[in-house]
Amino acid sequence: MVNIEKSQSGSTITVKINGVIQEGVEFDKLIGTPSGGELVINTKDVKRINSTGVKHWIQYFQKIAANGVKLRFSECSPPIVDQINLIKNFTCGGSIESISAPFSCAGCNSQFISVLAIADLRKLQGKMPEPPCPKCKAKTVFDDSPEEYLAFLKRS
Ligand SMILES: [Zn+2]
Repeated sequence: MVNIEKSQSGSTITVKINGVIQEGVEFDKLIGTPSGGELVINTKDVKRINSTGVKHWIQYFQKIAANGVKLRFSECSPPIVDQINLIKNFTCGGSIESISAPFSCAGCNSQFISVLAIADLRKLQGKMPEPPCPKCKAKTVFDDSPEEYLAFLKRS
């Protein structure tokens, strides 16, 4: 249900989490327990996380953060962004680098996910960018409410 791709460069470990985070997920076994350095957590392919998954997530990342590991969350998928908005300490003191956001094309009706850097979003002051459709280059619309999806930006 959860797959992890792990790579290391210097003192930075990058993990790509793929699947559904729920009962029985063992981040200790999947990622290990680093102490110090940086851990980049890419959740672009996390399809879903339920309440038990959230509990395991917070327990694990709080422990790792307490070990002195700097947490950086990247390409957070929509279910992860929802949790970031709902739960204040979901990132356990880590930083969010980028999020994934669902868009629909007004021209050809295709749907796609675009990765948005937090630094760029801050420059737009709460507005959503309108990336061109990868298929037909037409104008696109964000599939959710920007105020709700980007609510976490106002917290820090
Ligand atoms: Zn299109």
